[in-house]
Amino acid sequence: SYERLLMVQLIVYGRGQRMVLTRDVTQIEKLETTRRDFVANVSHELRTPLTVLAGFLETLKDMPDEALSAEQREQYMGMMLEQAQRMQAIVADLLTLSALEASPSAEPHPVGMRTLIEAARQQAEPLSAGRHQFIWNVDETLDILGTASELGSAITNLLVNAVRYTPEGGRITISWRREADGSARYRVVDTGIGIAAHHLPRLAERFYRIDRSRSRESGGTGLGLAITKHVAMRHDGELQIASELGKGSNFSIVFPAERISVAEDDAA
Ligand code: ADP
Repeated sequence: SYERLLMVQLIVYGRGQRMVLTRDVTQIEKLETTRRDFVANVSHELRTPLTVLAGFLETLKDMPDEALSAEQREQYMGMMLEQAQRMQAIVADLLTLSALEASPSAEPHPVGMRTLIEAARQQAEPLSAGRHQFIWNVDETLDILGTASELGSAITNLLVNAVRYTPEGGRITISWRREADGSARYRVVDTGIGIAAHHLPRLAERFYRIDRSRSRESGGTGLGLAITKHVAMRHDGELQIASELGKGSNFSIVFPAERISVAEDDAA
């Protein structure tokens, strides 16, 4: 039907308009394909844990109580809970993403980055469970004009990813500093598995993952970087990624000078 629309419009507008119209229609088709792919991806992501969950329930339903030891029962329950939590995480990230897309940015307020980074640390360190060395390099006076909840998830995502994709014994360096040009950069550098160059351009797409099973095992949803990129954009910032396979990765969000505010030094 797009072709028909194009034909009709070509007849109506004549030769001069051809290029413009062709481009318009391609744009609509592209959006439509993106939307279809997204729905297919979401369905697939949710179907996997649901299938596992339903399988367990079916087995248990027909099983007489005495056929199941207390340990087995606990093990099954644990596995079912894990699948349910996985679905919860996916749905929560999807809601975050759609809120970012649907709503205009809230009135920007000075956000204490120091507090957000501390909150991210409290999530990342238990996940690391002592397997990594953390180095913190945080300018406590630099704040951002923006939305705290959004910035919090972006900052946490990058840090949690560094933990997920860095093997035991690795080093994770977090910095929040002003650049020479007045902008400010939140940066997470890890000595982890790294990323091959050809993946980099697509990394922040929804559900794009290099190693599905690794992401799943570590509790990833495949939406973290998509959310992070959105948050960066909503704060006039940019998500930058550099990485080398087998060596480690370097993720940062750069915020422009207009978004930076310097907190009062109340220690004085
Ligand atoms: P996930 O929930 O799978 O971690 P993300 O959107 O946060 O999803 O990241 C997308 C993919 O990018 C990950 O699945 C992983 O393959 C890759 N990735 C993200 N961060 C890192 C990192 N620090 N080191 C290596 N690979 C990473």
